[in-house]
Amino acid sequence: MKKQNRISRKKTRAVKVGNLILGDGQPIRIQSMTKVPTRNVQATLEQIDRLIEAGCEIVRVACPGEEDVKALGKIKSKISIPLVADIHFNYRFALMAIDEGVDKLRLNPGNIGDKDRVAEVVEKAKKHRVPIRIGVNSGSLEKDLMEKYGPTPEALVESARRHVAILEALDFHDTVISLKATDVPTMIEAYRLASQKFNYPLHLGVTEAGTLIRGSVYNAIGVGTLLQEGIGDTIRVSLTADPVEEVKVAKMILESLDLRQGVRVISCPTCGRTEIDTAKLATEVETRAMKLKGSLTIAVMGCAVNGPGEAQGADFAITGGQKKGMIYVAGKQERVVDEEHLVDELFKEIEKRRNKI
Ligand code: SF4
Repeated sequence: MKKQNRISRKKTRAVKVGNLILGDGQPIRIQSMTKVPTRNVQATLEQIDRLIEAGCEIVRVACPGEEDVKALGKIKSKISIPLVADIHFNYRFALMAIDEGVDKLRLNPGNIGDKDRVAEVVEKAKKHRVPIRIGVNSGSLEKDLMEKYGPTPEALVESARRHVAILEALDFHDTVISLKATDVPTMIEAYRLASQKFNYPLHLGVTEAGTLIRGSVYNAIGVGTLLQEGIGDTIRVSLTADPVEEVKVAKMILESLDLRQGVRVISCPTCGRTEIDTAKLATEVETRAMKLKGSLTIAVMGCAVNGPGEAQGADFAITGGQKKGMIYVAGKQERVVDEEHLVDELFKEIEKRRNKI
């Protein structure tokens, strides 16, 4: 069932990252970051494959050492989505990463130090059309800004402004900005200010957000609030978890705001009326539905009280009975199936019918 969002998105400058455009009202792109040593090419590629399968559209890898930077070309040659090199301080690594063919650098020009070195990196990035993301983080603000403002939205924006000014002085404009904070209200306000001040695409995220549940909630509130206001062009959900979970949560945030069509699984919380294992069924449906493409709503309801009503609004539905359930297709009762075969039979219907709905 297709739904249109009513969000009026801020149009920023367009920045090309590989084969994608960030900003200018283009679709909001989902990013994640690998969590294995980049120098281990095999492990990195395996993780990127899983991320792509889950829906990741841009992937970032850390480059703490020279061996990691040297692995970038091999990784880039084997993947279909843009590759971002995460570089801290080391200008030589930034130059090498561009030679390795990366699609974007995550780099704060103010942290490189020497002006000539900054100019060398920026000139090379310009020549190869490699954009730069300035990533300001509440945990690593400049000392003078911390003294003047503390870890506030103003400090984050001022820090970003300094890095932007360095790039603009070198006539470099393929810039993306992030202003991540661990504190959600600070992060939200920082991005609001940045959206007024800069015309560059914004990369949204709550930094060090925590483990799966806490991090998902914090990101959903921080990132979701901004997206609802039309702010943000690409998102990364930081979780202390498998990066595939980051991608799943990012997708769900976008789908919840109708910023992306996807597969939505509605399930009731269950109560004393339930006579089937609704949580198990819903989890199984959710896992299998993740692999489907396109727009689809599936409802998993514990009983016949609210079940038929929700089934009316869904493309496919299950409503529970006593150790069995009714399958609905396009709001109409289809057939009764034993609990143990319900999910298999539901997906048979989905495969058979979805193109006709
Ligand atoms: S659909 Fe039925 S089982 Fe689920 S919460 Fe409502 S009344 Fe309870």
